[in-house]
Amino acid sequence: MRASASKSCHTSTYHDARAAAVKTADTTVVGGKRDTGYRVGFRRLRGLCALFLLLAACMVCAADGAQAPGPVMLEQGTDQYLLGLHTQHLEDATNSLSFEQVSSAEQRDRFIPNKQATPNFGFTRSTYWFRFQLHNRSALEQRWLLEIQYPVLDEIDVYQIAPDGAVSVQHSGDLFPFSQRAVKQRNFLFNVPLTQGDEREFLIRIKTESSMQVPLVLWSTQAFLEKNHDEQYILGVYYGTLLAMLLYNLLIFASIRDINYLYYSIYITGYILFQLSLNGLAFEYLWPELPGWASRTVPFFVAAGMASIVQFTRSFLQLRANMPRLDDVFKFFLAFFLLVAMGSLFLNYQLMLKIGTIATLIVSLCIFFAGFMCWRMRFKPATFFMLAWTALLLGMAAYIFKTYGLLPKIFLTEYGIQIGSFLEVFLLSFALAYRFRLLQDENEHIQHEAAETLEHRVEERTEELNLALDELSKANEQLKELSNLDVLTGVKNRKFFNAKYEYEWKNALREKYSVAMLLIDIDHFKQINDTFGHLYGDEVLKQAAQTIQKNLKRPLDDVARYGGEEFAIILPRTDKEGAANLAEQIRAQIELLKIHFENNIVPITASIGVSALTPTESDDPEFLISSSDSALYEAKNGGRNQVKVYKKRDVPAHIGTPN
Ligand code: GH3
Ligand code: MG
Ligand code: MG
Repeated sequence: MRASASKSCHTSTYHDARAAAVKTADTTVVGGKRDTGYRVGFRRLRGLCALFLLLAACMVCAADGAQAPGPVMLEQGTDQYLLGLHTQHLEDATNSLSFEQVSSAEQRDRFIPNKQATPNFGFTRSTYWFRFQLHNRSALEQRWLLEIQYPVLDEIDVYQIAPDGAVSVQHSGDLFPFSQRAVKQRNFLFNVPLTQGDEREFLIRIKTESSMQVPLVLWSTQAFLEKNHDEQYILGVYYGTLLAMLLYNLLIFASIRDINYLYYSIYITGYILFQLSLNGLAFEYLWPELPGWASRTVPFFVAAGMASIVQFTRSFLQLRANMPRLDDVFKFFLAFFLLVAMGSLFLNYQLMLKIGTIATLIVSLCIFFAGFMCWRMRFKPATFFMLAWTALLLGMAAYIFKTYGLLPKIFLTEYGIQIGSFLEVFLLSFALAYRFRLLQDENEHIQHEAAETLEHRVEERTEELNLALDELSKANEQLKELSNLDVLTGVKNRKFFNAKYEYEWKNALREKYSVAMLLIDIDHFKQINDTFGHLYGDEVLKQAAQTIQKNLKRPLDDVARYGGEEFAIILPRTDKEGAANLAEQIRAQIELLKIHFENNIVPITASIGVSALTPTESDDPEFLISSSDSALYEAKNGGRNQVKVYKKRDVPAHIGTPN
């Protein structure tokens, strides 16, 4: 298994980023289409990247000038020793030297004093040997622990050589199942028993596909316990918070189904697993028996995390709408990271890691650039997005500057990436919430507008409807009116007269007042018709009707066409005398009518029968009709063109029209 082709290595992103950056500094190309619209942006980006890489190269060259180390004196009162500067190293480019060969006098002279506090040789195919000596002068501490604080190294052999030449060896490395470790710890730990006055020489062989970083620290047992306690606590809080953020965002996604929350959750997951892998915790707790997989998780989770953050950026900043050409570039990034994620499972590990690391740097800057451009376009959600990304980049920069000695090594710079990414995770979550609020506001605005428009339209429609209803009721009234009118003369018809008669009779009966009725008949009308024609007859009827109507002064008095050339009038609260006067007036007016036929004036006259009564229960409801008819008959008989009033109280003997 160890010798299999699928060699693994792990790395700390920015140590490796630096190593990768240095190696590729002269050939660095920053991605991006030669698009006139974005050329300026990309030129700036390229400038930034070049500066980044140049800085890295300079810093590596500058780290020089340490003395040849002697044995490390372990004194009472000091319980932690950083061994880097006390170490010599030997590069075995052939990967063939054995312990015996390396410990031979000839090879010993080839060891070079190490000049870095943390030996770091970047990505290398060579095997490295490290050598240092310990001399314990402390009476208190008898047991020590040697810690290699880089949990992704592949193979580690630690040889301890006693002054008498006795050699003990311990093997470790992440190519072996976790259960085989002597001390079950995420970092590599080796027991170093040293009684007072003991001297010990150490030879450590390391072969790895990750970057060759070897942070060597010697601890007293107690100091290690204390440091480990604090570390566990901090890591617990760190991952606990990230996990809470993950669950929180997943829950929000489940409830509001905004896809951004899913992308973001995948990103946090990728980020957590990447950090866990880097810390050795993923191997320790998640897949302790799968060293083959464990050794490949770093580039896999870096690429998967980056793919999801690229997709998140596209979706969150609405790049397709806001900056379509940049969106195309991001689509390429997305495909690229997905390929790297898959490739990191099968292809050359070191290559995938280098590609992934460089791409991560470049794409992080591109995401910052995209956020910045959207922010400048006044795309509101971009504000918090920019803040989040600034926090991450500042954290990265702080860590890189610290690594190259430009910033002091303090908590903020040492854990710059962790702090930056922590802030980033929070600010992105905030950005999502802010975006949600903006959407909500927009929704409310639209709803409000829609409601207003609706209200307005309802008002309009109501008005229209009311108008239509008005017209309808007017038309109805007209229709009703029409149905009460006589078509030829325009006065009321018989139907109306009948209803009115019935009503007035009952009313007069109840209120005990006198009702009068006039029955008017044009004289010799048949003759007029026969002589001058029907049309002329019609004209006579019209003018007679108008003449009668003109003589009615009270609003309730109506004339109705009772029969062919007969008109009837009901006069409530009128006695015989009043009715007779009105009848006489009408008769006289009709007589005065001058209706021409060609050049002749045809004389028109009418006879009128009048009757009146204050009705009682015993009276026949038809009394007024029959009695006025009777009076009319009398007028006809009396020579026509006259008014006759019905005198008797009882029902007349003759009922019917006087012909
Ligand atoms: P009298 O003096 O006795 O009333 O004689 P008269 O001819 O007026 O009476 P009669 O009842 O015999 O004639 C009524 C005529 O009225 C018969 C009919 O042709 C005519 N007439 C009825 N309705 C209309 C109408 O709508 N237009 C016209 N032009 N004539 C009508
Ligand atoms: Mg007549
Ligand atoms: Mg008649």
